[in-house]
Amino acid sequence: MMQSVKEIAFIKGSHGQHWVGNGFPVRNLFSYADMARDLSPFLLLDYAGPVDFPPTARKLGVGQHPHRGFETVTIVYEGGVSHRDSSGGGGTIGPGDVQWMTAGSGVVHEEYHSPDFSRTGGRFEVVQLWVNLPQQYKMTHPHYQAISREAIPQVALPKNAGHLRVIAGRYGEVIGPARTFSPMNVWDMHFSTAQRFVVEVPEGHTTALFVLRGGLQSGNRAVHSSELVVMEKAGTSVGFEVFEDTRVLFLGGEPIDEPIVGHGPFVMTSHEEIQQAIDDFRKGRFGEMLPSS
Ligand code: MN
Repeated sequence: MMQSVKEIAFIKGSHGQHWVGNGFPVRNLFSYADMARDLSPFLLLDYAGPVDFPPTARKLGVGQHPHRGFETVTIVYEGGVSHRDSSGGGGTIGPGDVQWMTAGSGVVHEEYHSPDFSRTGGRFEVVQLWVNLPQQYKMTHPHYQAISREAIPQVALPKNAGHLRVIAGRYGEVIGPARTFSPMNVWDMHFSTAQRFVVEVPEGHTTALFVLRGGLQSGNRAVHSSELVVMEKAGTSVGFEVFEDTRVLFLGGEPIDEPIVGHGPFVMTSHEEIQQAIDDFRKGRFGEMLPSS
């Protein structure tokens, strides 16, 4: 097949800031409610911070809430997040770490600033991404992948341009540690110098780049920090001029060609399945969390 360059479909800023619980001041870049099909298999991206928290003895975050039918992926850039869930999973992640939680048939969990971070305070910067599950896996057993910074391979970019961390999928011959239910690439990219970046991607895949810091330019279109650029699905290569000191979260994946029906923390393929999720949660079928010690 001939190489063809992907065009920009659109560039998107956030919907403004809101608080998730009392710990996460987030800007939402997209959600299944506004662009489920455009970004499939990705359902939602919340960007918390960057913001400075003073030291506190209070527990800041969001208390018990359910999820069903997808995965939540928490990427910590700065700060720390602690999590506990009804399947017995839990843990604390810090800068460079990723938590990849498969809610599957359902979990109840809580997400808080880590005790160490609360004690010292400091800069907090976290992305939470929701990844859809193909229908056949929506009721899979809940599962939790704690992916440490050391487990994420880092690839040097050509010409000392910076580095790329492969969280999921692959970059060249380097394979990321996250196990996924459909083909996708999630890369944490850091460009130290201004540079042209080009990468080959499969025809028909979703491709989006979220700029945390710095910026990109393609033709006369500029993508600034805290903006998301979504590419057309057609085409097999993506290219940008990247500014100095730019940090990008690259999202690529095969779209899941199934209906997306969501209601708050439940994302299924039909209204009947949503009703079932609400009913199951009300009846305690997601399990219960152990009391905190
Ligand atoms: Mn959650």
